[in-house]
Amino acid sequence: MDTTLCPECGALAEVQWRAVMESTDGPVEHARIGCLRRHWFLLPVASLARRRPVDPATGRLRAA
Ligand SMILES: [Zn+2]
Repeated sequence: MDTTLCPECGALAEVQWRAVMESTDGPVEHARIGCLRRHWFLLPVASLARRRPVDPATGRLRAA
């Protein structure tokens, strides 16, 4: 399970799905997250709290 932190309450939140959306700056990957307290958000992936290890060679999140 891919997890992050809720931006509102700081509880553990599950990444439910991801989708690439067009923006004025080009395609941006977004993720829908839902936390333990039933908050949910649709946020750019880059703004999520990092809970997974980042590969130092590429700076990208490792595949789950
Ligand atoms: Zn929350």
